[in-house]
Order: sequence, then C-alpha cells, then structure tokens
Amino acid sequence: MPGFGERHYMDMPDATEDTRPVSLLTCKSCGARNRIRPSAKGVPACGTCKAALPWLVDASDSTFDTEADAAVPVVVDLWAPWCGPCRFVGPILAELARDYAGKLKVVKINVDDNPRTSERFQAYSIPTMMVLKGGQPVDRIVGALPKDQLVARLAPHLGA
Ligand SMILES: [Zn+2]
Repeated sequence: MPGFGERHYMDMPDATEDTRPVSLLTCKSCGARNRIRPSAKGVPACGTCKAALPWLVDASDSTFDTEADAAVPVVVDLWAPWCGPCRFVGPILAELARDYAGKLKVVKINVDDNPRTSERFQAYSIPTMMVLKGGQPVDRIVGALPKDQLVARLAPHLGA
C-alpha cells in the first residue's frame, strides 16, 4: 500500500514506450504488410524479403515533424477528400512511392483536418506538393500533374 504522498503511476504510459506513429506499408516484392515507424535514418525494408518498402504515410499536425524527418527526399501531399485533382494525383504519388522505394517518402496531409501544417506551407490551393530535403523545402508543385510530368519534376531531387 503506497504511503502518504506517493503517487500511482499505474495509469501512466510506460516512459520507454515508443509513441511514434505506426504506418502499415505493403511490400511491392512479396506483398507482406509491415508495421513501420518513422525514422530519420535509413529507409524501411520488408521484414520478410528485405526489399525497400514503398514509403507512403498519412500524417497529422501532431506527427508531421516526425514523419517529415527522413534520410530521403520527402514529398508532402497537401490534399482533401473533396478535391478532384487531389484524387487524381493521389494514386500517382502512391505509384511513385512504389517506383522509387528506398529513394523517396510521401507524407500525406489532409488539409481539412490539419490546419497548422496547411498554413505552414500556405496550401491555399490544393493539391500542393512540397518537396523537402533535410526538412527544408526545395520545390513546390501546385496543382495536379500527369505522372510523366510529375516524375520529370521530381527526378532531379531523387537523384534519378
Ligand atoms: Zn517483402
């Protein structure tokens, strides 16, 4: 029985618990689903076959900084479900995450739910795609583009 003045920590989360968000990434080589947390070092690899995983995650105002801190270039997709051009470019970005697995991370931000990140990148027109390297914006693409044009625009940043 705790003495007077002692506090209960039973309901407190374990201080060593990993609170980083978990994303479910599907391996393009073997189809295995991997639970991956953001990391500023390296790129995620499949636990089953070791192939680089397509790295596409949904982030929020509270997880954005953690997700955007990556060793590879990050494309931030500022989008909304009601935006037609966003729905056009969304699957293209998912394809790019597969095509450039190990070289690129796509971080999706729903602007309706995440006003802080939207404001930070002044995403007044969507889709707005920010290319970040080392956390710093190096390019800004406003409006949807066909895949070949988006690849041409991103290639210099991907070393491709
Ligand atoms: Zn695999």
